[in-house]
Amino acid sequence: MKTPLVEMDGDEMTRILWRQIKEELLEPYIALKTEYYDLGLPRREETGDQVTIDAAQATRKYGVAVKCATITPNAQRVEEYKLSQMWKSPNGTIRAILDGTVFRAPIMVRGINPVVKNWEKPITIARHAFGDVYRATEYRVASPGRAELVFTAEDGTECRQTIQDFDSPGVLQGQFNLDRSIASFARSCFQYALDTKQDLWFATKDTISKQYDHTFKDLFAEIFEREYRAKFEACGITYFYTLIDDAVARVIRSRGGFIWACKNYDGDVMSDMVSTAFGSLAMMTSVLVSPEGNYEYEAAHGTVTQHYYRHLRGEEVSTNPMATLFAWTGALAKRGELDGISQLTAFAQKLERAAIDTIESGVMTGDLVGLWEGEAPAQKVTGLEFLRAIRARL
Ligand code: NAP
Ligand code: MG
Repeated sequence: MKTPLVEMDGDEMTRILWRQIKEELLEPYIALKTEYYDLGLPRREETGDQVTIDAAQATRKYGVAVKCATITPNAQRVEEYKLSQMWKSPNGTIRAILDGTVFRAPIMVRGINPVVKNWEKPITIARHAFGDVYRATEYRVASPGRAELVFTAEDGTECRQTIQDFDSPGVLQGQFNLDRSIASFARSCFQYALDTKQDLWFATKDTISKQYDHTFKDLFAEIFEREYRAKFEACGITYFYTLIDDAVARVIRSRGGFIWACKNYDGDVMSDMVSTAFGSLAMMTSVLVSPEGNYEYEAAHGTVTQHYYRHLRGEEVSTNPMATLFAWTGALAKRGELDGISQLTAFAQKLERAAIDTIESGVMTGDLVGLWEGEAPAQKVTGLEFLRAIRARL
């Protein structure tokens, strides 16, 4: 390797799998070069969360990162880890620094069939990773009164609209997004569609949200016409816009094999729906692509806390390392591509093939056993045994 990968370690069960993936499947075969950032919660506490910011900055410097799942603290975690504050979600912090779009795609294997029978190919969800409800200002309205939306321009001019005259308690929320973020979301999606030669779908609720959602629709349309239509035609792919409810219905009836661009909240919700329908959250890859061309690879699932607690009690657990392994292979393949090291990219591809073949041979973790419809009898193994079976095959 020429350039180091930015390695972001994490928490709980995935932290254990992280170490095992490196020891069993990476370090024996490649001269792994990483710049290590420990995003585990104890280290975030120690550094006042500076380590997360440093890791995101390093990603802008080197271009490719691989991230382990991390705890997003809540009140219970503050207690459990004796935290001085409820640190923000590391993913949120990283996305705020890098901007960009998260692409999530299922890892498909023969023998595990999507719940939706007609899904023959993966559906990739492209989630806008900035703004909307994730950066909203909100509060409880405790008593009657008037809620107004006020915008004060730099020159002092004011634009004021009544949201609601409350006659009883309720709730209130203010959301925003930026043209430049929406435009970079659009460009990331168009570019990813070209890179992977898949059609792109986009949907919002522009009939109801005539300013907010309509802006998303318009910016996508303008950028497509101006910068991408010719490229799409040359590549033989299409861009298709529809309403979010129509998109949901069409996605279910589709054969898959396209990218579905979603606003931030839609992408959060729909990626869980799509990944579950494809089999398991543990079989879902995730990559954040920034407008500057930086890539951060991760698993779509969390730190698998329930398995970790059982592991701490000395019980044997069967946690699926596929998504975390594919975060590594995705990052290694990209590093190989950017640095012109074809052996590194080839190694990543062989490792992915060995992992898929292992499952297809019937060796798998517990989460997949109930879904298994392959010919070979399912053999349930622990995460570590599964990694060793991949190693034997590799
Ligand atoms: P989770 O870690 O994704 O786990 C939820 C459940 O899904 C697990 O209990 C397990 O079900 C199943 N599961 C998820 N990944 C699995 C795997 N690799 N192998 C087998 N089963 C798997 O979500 P959570 O329990 O809601 O969150 C735990 C922690 O993760 C939280 O502190 C949260 O903040 C954090 N989180 C981090 C990220 C991230 O860093 N990207 C994302 C989401 C959540 P069974 O127990 O039924 O086996
Ligand atoms: Mg979610």
